[in-house]
Amino acid sequence: MSKKPFVSKEKLDEIAAQYATPFYLYDETAIRETARRVNKAFAWNQGFKEYFAVKATPNPAILKILHEEGCGADCSSYTELQMADAVGFKGDEIMFSSNATPAEDFQLARQLNVTINLDDITHIDFLEKVADIPDTVSCRYNPGGHFAIANNIMDNPGDAKYGMTREQMTEAYKILLSKGVKHFGMHAFLASNTVTNDYYPELARILFQVAVELKEETGAHIEFINLSGGVGIPYRPDQEGNDIMVIGEGVRQAFEDILVPAGMGDVKIFTEMGRYMLAPYGALVAKAIHVKHTYKEYIGLDACAANLMRPAMYGSYHHITVMGKEDAPCDHKYDITGGLCENNDKFAIDRMLPEINIGDLLFIHDAGAHGFAMGYNYNGKLRSAEVLLKEDGSTELIRRAETPADYFATFDFTGLFKNI
Ligand SMILES: *Cc1c(COP(=O)(O)O)cnc(C)c1O
Repeated sequence: MSKKPFVSKEKLDEIAAQYATPFYLYDETAIRETARRVNKAFAWNQGFKEYFAVKATPNPAILKILHEEGCGADCSSYTELQMADAVGFKGDEIMFSSNATPAEDFQLARQLNVTINLDDITHIDFLEKVADIPDTVSCRYNPGGHFAIANNIMDNPGDAKYGMTREQMTEAYKILLSKGVKHFGMHAFLASNTVTNDYYPELARILFQVAVELKEETGAHIEFINLSGGVGIPYRPDQEGNDIMVIGEGVRQAFEDILVPAGMGDVKIFTEMGRYMLAPYGALVAKAIHVKHTYKEYIGLDACAANLMRPAMYGSYHHITVMGKEDAPCDHKYDITGGLCENNDKFAIDRMLPEINIGDLLFIHDAGAHGFAMGYNYNGKLRSAEVLLKEDGSTELIRRAETPADYFATFDFTGLFKNI
């Protein structure tokens, strides 16, 4: 089985002639289609909103597309708040789901009047001290233990730094009520990159149950329940992807079973997906610049782990298409490497691919979320450009590549690099 790039070889040759490799390429058509499908899957819920996790793909042009499709923005830091604000997201179109939050971040969140999702019970006092407590506050829940679906352990919330215990949720709501909060939210993120249609529905059942209890215990008005991120994508060609329509229907059933009978049919459902919204619709495009034969066969690219860290950091699989050789036999075994002085700088290890020649373009799939965003400057490597393939087939540079002057910019006070 294989994955098909969202761009033809001819088109990519044309784009690569205009923008130097490596670069990220995003597919506007598919991004819009996905946002529309998500909104359709949850259209049964009055007030549903997908708050795109800005950290996944922090680019204003991408955020603007999602804003046009009715999405909000989920921010976790000062600069993410600034970016969402600059793009035009206003007030409750922004969710602030942070942790270990600096005072300045809460202050900006209050200034922009965004919805704040508190990670810890102690953040109530902290927020009150550094800013003030708004009318609407959300609390992040961590049930502890293991999170399992049909006896399969998906993740280990008990080891995760996020969220409040069950007892703390009740206590937090009571404290917030005493401080005048009128509307409440609940949030939890219990498993990452789930490739099953059951994750959101299972999570929803847990959260809906706790929401009913919290309402009974405290009398709080629960306005929204935020299922956060964690809906995954099939990185491997033999995996089957999630069906967001089935997921939306599963959440609807949990809603009908638990919230409606408790008189809570007005609760809004929010999501904060990053990966599902963007990962398949962005690719890292790089050129083969070296062929090396030692104890193994190596292909050296002009991109490296500083451009896409997931394989080096998590051992993640990213499918690779050698452009123009889609139908050639995969009869060569390669390590596909970048140029970092780090032996884990490999996009693929022992990967069967068609024969690769110097100058071939490689399309590294599923890099549209947590790809460019996790880039770094190790070894003095520079961040690449980001290019948008628009609906009409034209392209737009949505971030220029870094230059050496950008790399040296934080030494500007020294005067050492002013001629670079
Ligand atoms: C990272 C993150 C997300 C997005 O996660 P995905 O796996 O990309 O869906 C959403 N909410 C919060 C609070 C996060 O930290």
